[in-house]
Amino acid sequence: MRLYPCEDREVTRYDSKVPEVVTRVQGPLVDYDLGDGSEIFDVLVCGGTLGIFVATALSYKGLRVGIIERNIIKGREQEWNISRKELMELVEVGILSEEEIEQIISSDFNPSRCAFESKGEIWVENILNLGISPAKLVEIMKERFVSSGGAIFEGKSLSSISVHDDFAVLNLSDGGSLPCRLVIDAMGNFSPIVRQIRSGRKPDGVCLVVGTCARGFDRNTTSDIIFSSSSIRRAGNSGVQLFWEGFPAGSGPTDRTTYMFTYVDPHFGGPKLEELLETFWDLMPAYEDVVLENLDIMRVIFGIFPTYRNSPLPAAFDRVLQVGDASGIQSPVSFGGFGSLTRHLGRLSNGIYEAVSGDLLDALSLQLLNPYMPNLSASWLFQRAMSARPQIDVSPTFINELLFANFESMQDVIQFGPLVKTLGLVMITRPQILPSIFKQAGPGVILNWSGHFVMLGYYTFLSTFIDPVLRPWVESLPLRNKYQWKRYLEAWKYGAGLDYRQGE
Ligand SMILES: Cc1cc2nc3c(=O)[nH]c(=O)nc-3n(C[C@H](O)[C@H](O)[C@H](O)COP(=O)(O)OP(=O)(O)OC[C@H]3O[C@@H](n4cnc5c(N)ncnc54)[C@H](O)[C@@H]3O)c2cc1C
Repeated sequence: MRLYPCEDREVTRYDSKVPEVVTRVQGPLVDYDLGDGSEIFDVLVCGGTLGIFVATALSYKGLRVGIIERNIIKGREQEWNISRKELMELVEVGILSEEEIEQIISSDFNPSRCAFESKGEIWVENILNLGISPAKLVEIMKERFVSSGGAIFEGKSLSSISVHDDFAVLNLSDGGSLPCRLVIDAMGNFSPIVRQIRSGRKPDGVCLVVGTCARGFDRNTTSDIIFSSSSIRRAGNSGVQLFWEGFPAGSGPTDRTTYMFTYVDPHFGGPKLEELLETFWDLMPAYEDVVLENLDIMRVIFGIFPTYRNSPLPAAFDRVLQVGDASGIQSPVSFGGFGSLTRHLGRLSNGIYEAVSGDLLDALSLQLLNPYMPNLSASWLFQRAMSARPQIDVSPTFINELLFANFESMQDVIQFGPLVKTLGLVMITRPQILPSIFKQAGPGVILNWSGHFVMLGYYTFLSTFIDPVLRPWVESLPLRNKYQWKRYLEAWKYGAGLDYRQGE
């Protein structure tokens, strides 16, 4: 059963210029020499940043799991910001204790500001209000993983995978190979497997981020989740709408992380990261109300986040599944891939465990683990609305006006009720910005978005009223059907954003 409103999901095409990493070999694996001491893994995870969390959750469930990481499995120094309820998902899944949660939190601040230059500000509580140390967290996870029987292959890079009817064989760049039943691709946005699946296609949107973690901020108790500059500016040769984020950092009382980011439509091109960084140095002192020379810059941070409208990415091969940034399950507006992984970890680890134990590892069964989610697809319009587009005749302050209207009732996970309220508010209080929304996004995107909006309402209805009726029946089904229906129920819930409960 598929419930896609408009078939904008990817049709797998193969471009001869994109290296073929995954090859499907018909028939079972024969003549494979396991050698002394080698074994067949249930799951091999490629990529050990977010991959370590999924690997540990699966190892805890009793699967034989290995991780292949081309570097060392190690979290970065720069903090991840996250909400407590997202972090607590790691406790719910059982891979971290509440005491350990307290150990990894390096900063905790409230309230946070959403500010729209020359429009106003909104203060919110408990959103992205914790800074956690990826270095400490990943270290704990690594110990957990190894002590639960997991195997780590560091300094080894995946070069290709041959998928047979019964197993997948991973070929490594050092000439070695490892067999397994399921490959989890956690190699991030630039995963070579994702590149193959997406046929090297250009992303639909890109978020560019530059920033610093610096010492010397006297006022450093609250954070900005978003600060939107009043109008479009130039960075390099491109017009950009700039957004800012600022968070106290845990390394010292006057240490602060400041991000400046912008959304770019790659079809029109955009600034280089260096040009954006130049703009950052020019504007940051005014934004943070500091003198640059008085700051001790501890690190410069940057990132590129490609986003595709057809996300999450459905599995394209038997025995290969994407998780983390590779799966595109993170919001196209925020770059909180860690937060998004924690929210889905319980659902994913249960589903993967059932797929492996039931031998339901064909591409169709795996696709149910990264299903269509209307709330994720609907949030794409916001990214488009937030990117400055050349030759589009809208007021330079339009984006700021739109965001102020939205943020009055918006949240970080889109749900049907609050979205209807937001749209209603915009229509009643600021009907004059509607024509600009149409011009900015374009009729195609608006039409497509309307389909996702209707599906969001439909999934909300299904999850709220139909799920409780079906659940006892689902439990009585044979293995394959039960697996499928459990995934549909999850897709309704997560696709409607109902996993995210307000006020918790
Ligand atoms: C500036 C910045 C700020 C951020 N802030 C936040 C935040 O505050 N909160 C939050 O939730 N998220 C934040 N994020 C996002 C978060 O860092 C990402 O979502 C997360 O790192 C994604 O993890 P991943 O494992 O999916 O991919 P990646 O981090 O890209 O990791 C992929 C891993 O795969 C390995 N790999 C790649 N190719 C191979 C290969 N061929 N063989 C073996 N291994 C391979 C790599 O070495 C790497 O370890 C931020 C990101 C940036 C850049």
